Amino acid sequence: MLSEFKKKRNRLQSYTWLGLPLVVVAGWFYPKLGYLLLGCMVGAIGVAFYKGRAWCDWMCPRGSFYDLFIRKISMNRKIPAFFRKDSVRLFVLAVLIGVLGSQIYIHWGNADAIGLAMVMILTVTTIVGIILGVTYQQRIWCHICPMGTIANRMSEGKKPLNINEMCVDCKICSKVCPMQLKPYEYKESGVMGDNDCIKCSTCAVACPKNALTAA
Ligand code: SF4
Ligand code: SF4
Repeated sequence: MLSEFKKKRNRLQSYTWLGLPLVVVAGWFYPKLGYLLLGCMVGAIGVAFYKGRAWCDWMCPRGSFYDLFIRKISMNRKIPAFFRKDSVRLFVLAVLIGVLGSQIYIHWGNADAIGLAMVMILTVTTIVGIILGVTYQQRIWCHICPMGTIANRMSEGKKPLNINEMCVDCKICSKVCPMQLKPYEYKESGVMGDNDCIKCSTCAVACPKNALTAA
């Protein structure tokens, strides 16, 4: 059942990941493709209003790319706590907003130059994500991604996973989680309290005790 579920999820991701090369490859020749980055921002924030970080599951082209391709060559090590620190995440968010804002200001009126700046930002951050993904775990970038940080702040109470008393602490849910989260730690409250959950439901399908229910 888990393998069927993963196949279905991978199928969805196999459509959306194509948005990434469309910008980071074709964008260098057609800079206006960089504006697709704005579509991703609107999508991530729009979905977050309703379902937290669900955009990051299979709708985000970059998240899909990391799961489909980088997972296969990743050393799959534990993501260091450093990458989950608020201060680090807010710093990355501030830097990228600063770079994007300054590029728009400098090139105001030149649509191609602004588009190219967005292509450049997406290319550089994707390369950083690939290096970190291979060295640690494929989704490590998703912990410091500016869109993920914003969606995280909007995720509180937005269709969280439910956890019931059937949980036996086997930790299988954590082993299969693409974000390396620990749903079992929220057994007492009965509700997943980690706002970085991307609502992929992999843990719910893998749980041998049916202790997890996706909203
Ligand atoms: S897989 Fe299910 S039973 Fe095992 S720790 Fe996770 S929630 Fe508990
Ligand atoms: S906790 Fe479960 S639903 Fe959330 S990201 Fe991890 S595997 Fe997916």
